[in-house]
Amino acid sequence: MITAAPVLTPEKAVLTLPSDRWQAHWRQAIREPEQLLAELGLAPADMGVSAEALAQFPLRVPRSFVARMRHGDPADPLLRQVLPIDDEMQVVPGFSFDAVGDGPAKKATGVIQKYRGRALLVTTGSCAIHCRYCFRRHFDYAGENAAKGGWQEAVAAIAADPDIDEVILSGGDPLSLTTSKLAELTEALAGIGHIKRLRIHSRLPVVLPERVDEELVRWLAALPWPVAFVIHANHANEFDASVDAALSRLRASGAQLLNQAVLLRGVNDNLDALAALSERSFAAGVLPYYLYQIDRVQGVAHFEVSDEQALALHAGLMARLSGYLVPKLVREIAGDSSKRPLPTA
Ligand SMILES: *Cc1c(COP(=O)(O)O)cnc(C)c1O
Ligand code: SF4
Repeated sequence: MITAAPVLTPEKAVLTLPSDRWQAHWRQAIREPEQLLAELGLAPADMGVSAEALAQFPLRVPRSFVARMRHGDPADPLLRQVLPIDDEMQVVPGFSFDAVGDGPAKKATGVIQKYRGRALLVTTGSCAIHCRYCFRRHFDYAGENAAKGGWQEAVAAIAADPDIDEVILSGGDPLSLTTSKLAELTEALAGIGHIKRLRIHSRLPVVLPERVDEELVRWLAALPWPVAFVIHANHANEFDASVDAALSRLRASGAQLLNQAVLLRGVNDNLDALAALSERSFAAGVLPYYLYQIDRVQGVAHFEVSDEQALALHAGLMARLSGYLVPKLVREIAGDSSKRPLPTA
């Protein structure tokens, strides 16, 4: 999620990987609110679409994700995650531009370290979908991604710190990059003896399941470390047969699949929706990991759920579901040594 030019231009992708289908799906993403709403049988005038919000963070949503939205439903939980609306332009006190302190946590170009042992690589600023609630809607990725200059600065920073035992590929969405670009990185990391685990944070298996192609699975299966693959789905409706198939291919690579979700008003802020999300994730082979309280960046206040309600929902999940289906309810506080469980002090 980002406003800078994507690292992977469609033209380049076609030249370097002519046989891959996922770039075609990527290119066919919808970018016009009018087109999105027309496909859903909704009138723009009724939806509070905002040209300013669109200019700040463009609309982008893959067609297969749109196909999972309910036709004619202005409150559809998938639609609400991607449609730029007037509410985003409210200036709300307490909602800032770098709510999670990424600026000060920078270790090298594209390398963020906040927690012991884990280095997070901003591999790219590019995403297949633009989620309106994303804390990175304000982040300038133009010169800040680790892929710049063939990964050298990022790899050198990790090699120089023996305390780092886990590398997290994040972004943006790391699977926006071609598999050969990712393989370039992991080949360089394979020479660093103190790395014990690789983690990948990606929304692509959910929003563009075609990305999980044979080449990607071969790359994952051949990695020299155990892999944790953290997907991001906020609602059970985000899953369909194509997503199930993509997740089952990922599992076949040997990766451990986890889900992180964001608690979002009007999307999943009720017990039935959250329970269904956990159950549907597990049916697809994915364990719930985190349920985040939203990062307080400008433009997302209308999505916020109060801590009181969040805690009540979490207690409701505990009372309803098997323990392993209950995600940890956390929020990120700049300067903390880990994500912070609710309740906060
Ligand atoms: C969230 C985050 C992590 C991962 O934290 P876990 O609790 O291990 O999932 C690592 N690095 C950064 C910078 C993060 O924001
Ligand atoms: S939530 Fe993830 S996929 Fe969505 S815009 Fe942010 S980084 Fe991209």
